[in-house]
Amino acid sequence: MGSWTESSEAIGAVDEVLAAVGLTHGRRATRQGSWKQGERVKEPKRSNERTGLSVQASAIQIEAWRKYPWLHAGFSTRLGGASTVYGKGDLNLGWTAADSPDIVVRNRQRFFAAVTGSERSELAAVRQFHSNLICKVDAAHGPLETAEGKAVLRGDAVITDVPGLLLGVQTADCVPVLVADTKRRIVAAFHAGWRGTLSRIVERGIGDFVLRYGSKTKDIVAAIGPCIGPCCFAVGEEVRFDFESQFAYCGALFSEVYDSDPVREKYPLLFLTARAPGHSNIGPQIHLNLVEANRRQLLDAGVFAENISVVGECTACTYVRSGSRKYFSHRGEHGFTGRMLSVIGIGTEE
Ligand SMILES: [Zn+2]
Repeated sequence: MGSWTESSEAIGAVDEVLAAVGLTHGRRATRQGSWKQGERVKEPKRSNERTGLSVQASAIQIEAWRKYPWLHAGFSTRLGGASTVYGKGDLNLGWTAADSPDIVVRNRQRFFAAVTGSERSELAAVRQFHSNLICKVDAAHGPLETAEGKAVLRGDAVITDVPGLLLGVQTADCVPVLVADTKRRIVAAFHAGWRGTLSRIVERGIGDFVLRYGSKTKDIVAAIGPCIGPCCFAVGEEVRFDFESQFAYCGALFSEVYDSDPVREKYPLLFLTARAPGHSNIGPQIHLNLVEANRRQLLDAGVFAENISVVGECTACTYVRSGSRKYFSHRGEHGFTGRMLSVIGIGTEE
């Protein structure tokens, strides 16, 4: 099949990432091996004890969730796709203006196959607008996608107890958070940029599990996906003011980073008389840690610390060995970039 040839190319790219970070991979159908020139090559399963994550072709999956065969979940990277507008072989999963819809369809099929074992999935994605709106999908739901495959629901999170669907959020720096009640089989996907984080979308979402579905917080597991890290996410002073007004733990979310200026370092005399002593350095940049902010919201809502997994890679500054980016980054690529998709769903497996 043609798709195997493509996936063997993809696996070449993924191999580099794995070598760099020491994770496991393999398409779901080839868990014990990989495909090279159309041949299945058996190899021992590798996993990373430190991060507890594994990469299957183009999906990052949480090792701790493997004990729930019914729980389908994964975060995408930009590796192993067919898009060429943002680079080579990108797995762009968003309907961006620059990319061809046909290619996005193929990329999505590949990603779904890596997560669920099937290329076809009914996707309940959301038309995101940095809100704290959580869409509930029940058994009597209407159409979730247009004929072109675009999202119908409007909000920044989606929650369901209906099997057979994949819930999805798109990101390219913002935080994707996947959550499941492993007892009652309820799943949710959240898109949390700084605005959604400020309006506590994840904390509210855990409240929905408890209040609408009767979940017990001890049964809830959560995974925070790749997003822009505190290393790269500089924000304005006004963002810190907003967070200070909302969160008692605000001090744990921000750091001050001093940039060095090579011109000033090389020619200090040029700047010597310009300002009074102590005032000539460039002021600090304020960096926000969105992962910690969302982890705190999960904890505050009652999720156990040991049930929270964090991928922990920064979308703006994580590169694979070949020098290309591992993720799409809105900030890192000045707005011209593709989208990752993070999905979670209830399968029919026991
Ligand atoms: Zn970074």
